[in-house]
Amino acid sequence: MRELVDPTKQAFEKRKLAVRNVDGKTQVLCVDFAGTMQEVDIKRRTDLPVDAATGTHPYRFKIDNKALDPEERKNKGLPPFDFSDTEAIIKALGEPRTFDMPLWFVNLAGDDISRILQYDLALIFQSKGCNLHDWTETGGCTYCYVDDVSNNPSNKKNAVWLGIENIINTAEKLREDASVRKGRELHRIRHSGGETTTELDFTLELQKEIEKRDLEKLFVQLTQISARAIL
Ligand code: SF4
Repeated sequence: MRELVDPTKQAFEKRKLAVRNVDGKTQVLCVDFAGTMQEVDIKRRTDLPVDAATGTHPYRFKIDNKALDPEERKNKGLPPFDFSDTEAIIKALGEPRTFDMPLWFVNLAGDDISRILQYDLALIFQSKGCNLHDWTETGGCTYCYVDDVSNNPSNKKNAVWLGIENIINTAEKLREDASVRKGRELHRIRHSGGETTTELDFTLELQKEIEKRDLEKLFVQLTQISARAIL
């Protein structure tokens, strides 16, 4: 029988491999999606944004609620969603296999629910490595959407170190360029994994820098902690 990984031990190990300090600034090891199986899946809907400083592709967009999205609806032959119908919005957010995250953010921004679509898009960077994975070719959950290389911080293939500036500069650039977002607004950065709680300090630094730069209605979110954390 396969030996189960010790998640606490593996989390400390991940921290050692995937967090570093360069000239007083924290960097985390992230997945460069170029050439991965995830890239194929991501490109079904959006391109991979580039990190200007490194020339790599460690970001992806996520449309959280496809029932609201004009392009998704058009592809399914559905008419545009009626955003004046609050009840229909709430119902759409409660459908199976959808995320209700846009609702948290429209509330956080103090915006009107009829503008919820503008809070649907997330810019994601993905921490390399999961502490419930034993980092072998067959470890981890069988249903995981992250491949075994991307879930292994000791394997430097498809890996890139990102600092706070990489991420915020990229987000700022993407907020200026509507074409790459296909007209959708960008108010959310999501720190995803793998496991992100091994680098919570980095997520907090990211939030502080956003506040320092006074970036209007830009929020940071974690997918761990039951996918419920907004910083
Ligand atoms: S990232 Fe989540 S689904 Fe994937 S191996 Fe880790 S715990 Fe399992």
